Amino acid sequence: MTTNGKLLNYVNGQWTRSSASDYANVMNPATNQALTTVPMSPGGEVDAAVQKAQEAYVGWRHTPVGDRIQPLFKLKQLLEDNLDAFGRVITEECGKTYAESVAEMRRGIENVEVACGAPILMQGYNNEDIARGIDEHMFRQPLGVVAAITPFNFPGMIPLWFLPYAVATGNCFILKPSEKVPMSSQLLFELIDQAGFPAGVLQLINGGKETVDALLDHPGIRAISFVGSTPVAKYVYSRATANGKRAQCQGGAKNPVVIMPDADMESATRIVADSAWGCAGQRCLALSVAVTVGEAKNEFTEMLADAATSRKVGYGLAEGAEMGPVITSESKARIEKIIGQAGGEGANVLVDGRNKQVGGYEDGYFVFPTILDNVNPNGEIAKTEIFGPVLSMMHANTVEDALAIVNNRAYGNMACIFTSDGNTARQFRYGADAGNVGINIGVAAPMAYFPFSGWNESFFGDLHAQSRHGVEFYTQTKVVVERWPREWSRKF
Ligand code: NAD
Repeated sequence: MTTNGKLLNYVNGQWTRSSASDYANVMNPATNQALTTVPMSPGGEVDAAVQKAQEAYVGWRHTPVGDRIQPLFKLKQLLEDNLDAFGRVITEECGKTYAESVAEMRRGIENVEVACGAPILMQGYNNEDIARGIDEHMFRQPLGVVAAITPFNFPGMIPLWFLPYAVATGNCFILKPSEKVPMSSQLLFELIDQAGFPAGVLQLINGGKETVDALLDHPGIRAISFVGSTPVAKYVYSRATANGKRAQCQGGAKNPVVIMPDADMESATRIVADSAWGCAGQRCLALSVAVTVGEAKNEFTEMLADAATSRKVGYGLAEGAEMGPVITSESKARIEKIIGQAGGEGANVLVDGRNKQVGGYEDGYFVFPTILDNVNPNGEIAKTEIFGPVLSMMHANTVEDALAIVNNRAYGNMACIFTSDGNTARQFRYGADAGNVGINIGVAAPMAYFPFSGWNESFFGDLHAQSRHGVEFYTQTKVVVERWPREWSRKF
């Protein structure tokens, strides 16, 4: 929804033009061409949206949960019908391949499906005769107005980690998507507009830091869900909680994989390559450190180098492309600078993805698959979230040594192992310091039926996204203890 190349906000059931004086270009990272512009909405527009949400909340909170999920069923079908359109728009603004874009929407739609189970998911519990003649009940009630702030790398899926649960449980919800990829959310809200939600229940406010700060400071907003980089996650968590809000803030990652000598090397190589270079390494669950154990080193390194050099890099909408560009020219420059620093830390650039071009897309922000070998586990490269198609290789003699490397880091989003031995797998599962563990899996992304988040510097908060945690995050429990003595009852 645009007027004159300017994206609109969606407030109180209407597409509205922002009064922003500042608009940012939304770029196609494969072509370096501007697709549209997005408003940096001022704080006053957040306030107007919160007021409309508070008005809508009065009716929405009293709408039976079975009725509240009916527009979500419609939304699920609209999302299915528009999968191709989402695939195209996500690829255009984010750069990933069409197949990756459709796959992320599929994951998002699953959250809509799960949230449609709210009539069961938000049930409380009770005890009759908790004391003689006294019954005790726990109810879940919505919070009120809640908001989510989302990152660039999954513009279709990540808003759906939050939005369906928030509204199914009776809240009104405001989305502030990444200003780098706001078009996917425009498409989502075009469908929300058709799904039959009352005005004000779901709203879209575009913007940047000023818009985020207005959400964090607004007394009418009860809870904040955030996904993005660790420094911003920390900031959002501190400011939101200092203002008395609930907050769940997912941050950055640096995900290791251990390759045991008994692993099936062919499948391990294929899966690790897909994880490290799929979505150009811009997944929070991308593998970015591979630790080979003992004899795994030579065979795995050789096979992985072949996989890196043979991966087809191109425009995500082009036939056969297996990997697209990174998100911005600044991101490309930052990633290439880190690759350039590898030698200084004693590492070897085994496969160099710098200074390569894609025919017909010479201005695109492409970095090709890169492998840094013999990376120092205690060096800067081992600690830094590169968020690009760069895999760092390290080597260990035993699984215990490998586990020590895995746990020697600030982040804790995901850790994986490839092995054919159940006991080794169990040892790893038990000891890995991460919120998501993959065993012979390269992207251990939980389905919508399970909660999702990392540990340590990858997450600030308590309740995670998706599933039962989503329902718990967006509801507050009320306990009722009641006594009805027989002598008070009127006898008929
Ligand atoms: P980002 O932190 O730059 O931006 C995320 C959101 O915060 C955006 O909506 C942006 O407008 C806003 N923002 C940015 N700077 C801000 C500031 N100073 N004050 C207030 N708001 C600000 O993240 P990104 O570059 O869009 O996304 C990539 C990052 O997200 C990576 O670090 C990645 O690991 C992480 N990520 C984590 C998960 C997870 O589940 N843990 C999932 C996806 C992405």
